[in-house]
Amino acid sequence: MGPSPARDRHAGRGRRCLVLGGGVAGLSSAFAHHEAGWETTLVETRRRLGGRAWSLSKDGIEFDNGPHVLLGCYERFRSLLRRLNTEDHFHHAKALELHWLREDGETLSLRCPVLPSPFHLLTGILRMRIPWKDRLALLAAGRRILGTLPDEGVNLDAWSAAEGIAPSVRRLLLAPLCRAVMNAEPAEAEARMFLETLGTAFRAGPAGGAMWIPRLPWSRILDPEPRSLPFTVRRGRGVGIEIRRPAPVLKLADGTLLEGHDRLVLALPPGEAARIAPSCPESALAGNLRPSPILTVYLPLPATLLPPERPILALDGGKAFHFLVRGPKSGRGGEGILFGALLAGAASAFDGLSRERILLEAWSELGRRFGTALPASPPEPAFVLRERRATFLPGPGHRRFRPPPGPTSIPGLWIAGDWTDTGLPATLEGAARSGFDPVQGPRLSPAGLSGR
Ligand SMILES: Cc1cc2nc3c(=O)[nH]c(=O)nc-3n(C[C@H](O)[C@H](O)[C@H](O)COP(=O)(O)OP(=O)(O)OC[C@H]3O[C@@H](n4cnc5c(N)ncnc54)[C@H](O)[C@@H]3O)c2cc1C
Repeated sequence: MGPSPARDRHAGRGRRCLVLGGGVAGLSSAFAHHEAGWETTLVETRRRLGGRAWSLSKDGIEFDNGPHVLLGCYERFRSLLRRLNTEDHFHHAKALELHWLREDGETLSLRCPVLPSPFHLLTGILRMRIPWKDRLALLAAGRRILGTLPDEGVNLDAWSAAEGIAPSVRRLLLAPLCRAVMNAEPAEAEARMFLETLGTAFRAGPAGGAMWIPRLPWSRILDPEPRSLPFTVRRGRGVGIEIRRPAPVLKLADGTLLEGHDRLVLALPPGEAARIAPSCPESALAGNLRPSPILTVYLPLPATLLPPERPILALDGGKAFHFLVRGPKSGRGGEGILFGALLAGAASAFDGLSRERILLEAWSELGRRFGTALPASPPEPAFVLRERRATFLPGPGHRRFRPPPGPTSIPGLWIAGDWTDTGLPATLEGAARSGFDPVQGPRLSPAGLSGR
């Protein structure tokens, strides 16, 4: 049985917690500490909360360039949304739907009906408009995907070849799901983590695998008016820690020392956690995780090409771009325009290319599918956003660099973030999990709260 939430609520009374980093992990951690009775302050360097969910492009335009999708089974993240009062700002189907845009411009859909698992998936696959041999290959692959897990050293390509999964299934299903979930190509992604994540979604029943798409920009979902938050938010950039008891002291860029806390939670991206607390073996480990970029091209597109019932299209046979996503993505300067976002995950192929060259590549990717429905050259305003450190690469064996979230070997210093060992790749749910477990997680049990 888990600890009593009522006891949890009082466990931190009279104690003070400082959370550094206002992304999903930091917000989750700040709520958890507040709800457990701690006097909590959150320090964030940027103007807005939400972390990687928004960015500032080079030409100074603020853009919601964050996550495009979450799944119904992202329970901890949804729990954060409820605390922020923004869980209603999403469009979601009742069960898993996937849509592909094929190279001849036709679309293909997998729509699972609301039936108990795995019948929803079986029925969805049997109804797909593909040759019978491909439907049967998909069904056969499903059994292997939900079967015994491989060890951590194997990549997805090697695993699917060893399992004899048909090339059509690997191209149609595994490759786009791997890019979406892992932000890695199948040859680079750890098969075990990918299969565990898919298993979580499929086993959670039809609603658990349904995609949730934001209806509003992320800045409006994750960045509320600070006065509406139950803890204090302070602007500042942490530059280092001094080890003291009961908890390390945080040094800000302007020289201020934030002292007198019982706990300091570092809820930073991996490279930054390693830089700020190099003497902490757990956060130093994060420096070994390889960043994985995401490049997104935003182009104004006619609404007919991006119908609302198919907000995300996997580009079957896409070369560098793999998804086409419908807005809302309205940065300042782009309000009222419907943007299509072309996504290239794990996108090192674009390193060193100019904006113009990337725009042309994006336009020719669309031209191959939409042909004469498109003007000859890319329309403006168009934006190219490169997130070099969008996620980390969840390659074979990467978990040895992911310490568990929670207390570190330095007294009073805790870590959180999507890079800690959450059992998931870099996702909103992983980040939220690392920050708190409101009901029965060991981290915020009374014992954990009174721990180091
Ligand atoms: C383009 C893109 C697309 C994505 N798509 C998806 C998706 O579709 N689905 C999904 O689940 N996930 C997706 N992700 C991943 C997801 O956004 C992240 O896993 C998650 O937001 C990470 O949250 P976090 O709190 O761990 O880290 P962060 O969001 O990085 O939060 C860290 C915070 O710390 C702050 N900070 C950094 N340094 C300092 C400092 N020195 N002092 C003070 N503050 C500091 C930062 O400003 C930031 O607010 C995507 C990410 C990107 C970039």
